[in-house]
Amino acid sequence: MLTGRSPSTRSDDRVRPDVAVVGAGPIGLAIAWRCAARGLRVEVHDPASGSGASAVAAGMLSPVAEAYFGERQLTGLLLASAARWPAFAAELTEATGAEFGYRTEGTLMVGLTGDDLAEARRLWAYQQGLGLPVTPLRPTELRDREPALAPRVRGGALAPTDHQVDPRLLVPALRTAARRSGAVLVPQPVRHLSEVDARITVVAAGCGAAALTGLPVRPVKGQVLRLRAPDGVAPGFRHVIRGYADGEQVYLVPRVDGEVVLGATVEERSDTTVTAGAVLRLLRAGVDLLPELAEYDLVEAVAGLRPGTPDNAPILGPLPGRPDVLAATGHHRHGIVLTPVTADLIADLVTTGVPDPLLAPFRPDRFSSNSPESTGAVGVGGLAGSGAVGVGDRTMEED
Ligand SMILES: Cc1cc2nc3c(=O)[nH]c(=O)nc-3n(C[C@H](O)[C@H](O)[C@H](O)COP(=O)(O)OP(=O)(O)OC[C@H]3O[C@@H](n4cnc5c(N)ncnc54)[C@H](O)[C@@H]3O)c2cc1C
Repeated sequence: MLTGRSPSTRSDDRVRPDVAVVGAGPIGLAIAWRCAARGLRVEVHDPASGSGASAVAAGMLSPVAEAYFGERQLTGLLLASAARWPAFAAELTEATGAEFGYRTEGTLMVGLTGDDLAEARRLWAYQQGLGLPVTPLRPTELRDREPALAPRVRGGALAPTDHQVDPRLLVPALRTAARRSGAVLVPQPVRHLSEVDARITVVAAGCGAAALTGLPVRPVKGQVLRLRAPDGVAPGFRHVIRGYADGEQVYLVPRVDGEVVLGATVEERSDTTVTAGAVLRLLRAGVDLLPELAEYDLVEAVAGLRPGTPDNAPILGPLPGRPDVLAATGHHRHGIVLTPVTADLIADLVTTGVPDPLLAPFRPDRFSSNSPESTGAVGVGGLAGSGAVGVGDRTMEED
């Protein structure tokens, strides 16, 4: 348990930190902010803060639209984190005065063809069965809300509590908040955990966590396009739109400054090449759903690497046999929405030494063959009645 700043010094005369965070993406920075705000001495190591998955991410805060079959424990954590977002955003604004694109208009989920709608309805029925707020809308109701939707769109549903934030603005805001709370940013990589000298080390290095810890975090490539409405105006739609279009799943995220993020592929690859085929599929599906996009400027085509895990859920807690090293990684498609809950629970663990029950399904040792989780001995987290740790059973996924 860490309750205050450690007075100890190390051989180079710098004061030994209480907490060293490896990785200054959204997860590492938010943990650093929370720990420093509790009076702990914090260092954050990263040669290129914000250059990981967050530099590409769309920033959807979508626990409802992303409640997928077989992922009930993850859904529980997503909901817990989304519930913390309003207060987290208010605190971040208060701490920094920064604008980071937090918007609460909600998410429209749509199906272009009859087959697309049938596919979408299966998922909405599952989400409604969990008690989540998903309101089916007739085509006329859809177009009342978003007149820019294509007349061909057959139907949809509203997830009013699924919001968005701009990760490219969020990360600098978190950096400012962490610094103002007293965290020190060290612009160097950590190549081995033995290089870090702190009472507690938190590994929040996204895909970089695998090399440092041996945890099963793998890169999952996502290609994304950024378009911009002409003449500097805002896009002609306000909701996040997630759609099935002739079998392709895409999302469109409108920003107030005119940008639209159109994504994303999900590929088991570790390169960041942008391919013509992916650009073609994303644009075709996007324009089919919102024809006005054809007139937008195409300003960026980029690929990033999500830190994926075998069960699509994050890895949170002490490494097996290393109570002084905490993992906060493997956030895969959900690192932006999961930022508040991860930061709070890891900061609690650092300061009290006691894991919150919410962390139980996400322990690093769940992938070991003799772990309590794999032998069925650990209780259930998240939504009531959940079974084993969720394993994604979709053939296609979105962020
Ligand atoms: C295409 C795409 C779309 C996405 N859309 C969404 C979305 O809509 N909503 C959502 O919630 N999530 C989304 N995500 C996922 C989200 O971006 C990630 O889950 C999130 O960025 C993870 O945060 P992180 O801080 O753990 O890792 P990252 O953002 O990857 O940051 C890791 C940091 O660690 C640093 N680092 C790595 N190795 C080392 C080392 N050895 N030493 C020091 N520093 C190191 C890197 O430089 C980097 O700054 C998306 C991701 C992609 C790729």
